[in-house]
Amino acid sequence: MNDNLTTDRPTFVTHLECSLTGERYAADTLHNLSRAGRPLLVRYDLDALGRAVSRDDIASRATDLWRWRELLPVRHTRNVVSLGEIETPLVPIPGSGGANVLVKDEGRLPTGSFKARGLVMAVAMAKELGVTRIAMPTNGNAGAALAAYATRVGIETIVFCPEDTPEVNVREIAMQGARVWRVNGLIDDCGAIVGKGAADGRWFDFSTLKEPYRIEGKKTMGLELAAQFGWSLPDAIFYPTGGGTGLIGMWKAFDELERLGWIGSARPRMYAVQASGCAPIVRAFEAGEEHAERWEDAHTVAAGIRVPRAVGDFLILRAVRESGGKAVAVGDPAILSAVDECARRDGLLLCPEGGATLAAYRQAVRDGEVDADERVVLFNCATGLKYPMPPADRTLDRHGDIDFDAL
Ligand SMILES: *Cc1c(COP(=O)(O)O)cnc(C)c1O
Repeated sequence: MNDNLTTDRPTFVTHLECSLTGERYAADTLHNLSRAGRPLLVRYDLDALGRAVSRDDIASRATDLWRWRELLPVRHTRNVVSLGEIETPLVPIPGSGGANVLVKDEGRLPTGSFKARGLVMAVAMAKELGVTRIAMPTNGNAGAALAAYATRVGIETIVFCPEDTPEVNVREIAMQGARVWRVNGLIDDCGAIVGKGAADGRWFDFSTLKEPYRIEGKKTMGLELAAQFGWSLPDAIFYPTGGGTGLIGMWKAFDELERLGWIGSARPRMYAVQASGCAPIVRAFEAGEEHAERWEDAHTVAAGIRVPRAVGDFLILRAVRESGGKAVAVGDPAILSAVDECARRDGLLLCPEGGATLAAYRQAVRDGEVDADERVVLFNCATGLKYPMPPADRTLDRHGDIDFDAL
């Protein structure tokens, strides 16, 4: 029996803080972006937290996302929502990656992607703060996770996606109870519609990083990694970067864990992986810029990272630089052949975004950027089953002569 979902735990949120200016905002009230137009970060009383709970206490609980409750923003247990957010496994891929490469397989989460981590938290907080109607732009997976959790707690949802969003995503969003609209534009064009409706008071804006709690949900990837590595961290992390929520969240997690004294000061080098057809963060990284300009004519098979402009650009760039990592781009052919090779050689079906991290890792090894004996984690952010696969169309006539040697 998992009592993480039912046991009351003390909470430690003190306030929210503008990620750009440090300006303080009150907790326990609804917020979107800060007055400076940037994401808000949740701050905790880590001294009190450290006195109330130890890493061993947490390690002794059932290994799901809600075991981290004291490090999460939800105040009241009655607002916890769950579809079974398991701790995702680290799967070795010795054939296509190498002896020291582990894939954190996020495809096993509810709704088949790691968007569940962010949205389970954001929806729980929306419930806690009395939201009744939410709108969101999505490339697919975020909309599906929102629809599932919001439906579960009885919040109405309206979702806008680019018209070429994978069919399975559009349909799963609809099936899980949201009203979904295909828009003739990209995700930021969808975001503009959401913003307009929010300004008119029609709904609450759930765009990436425009509400403060998705980062807290995604932070659990960093918390989990620390626990799975025995309270240390890998040498390098490759993360497929769209809005960058997960990379920002993990970086925040590592900082909080160090302040708690649960890990040391060593950090993984963070590699923000983008597709060469949409690489605004890579371009800004290489130019030494602090912010990234919009990428025009964005295109890639990896829909989840087709994000022309990220409101948290400077947070991604800051984490990557502080960590000694890099922002790197890989082409669609390299992405697809990485997916293919991992499936054929290791039996693990990655999503294209996960394939991008494998392609980027192999490029980094070739360039001497990463040593083959360093411990590396690649993020596979969704199940490969959601994406188109090459046809397999051999047929057999059971009434004819079967050439068994040829099977
Ligand atoms: C959303 C998404 C990403 C990008 O995640 P961010 O944290 O927004 O950068 C990568 N891969 C998949 C499959 C996604 O759905």
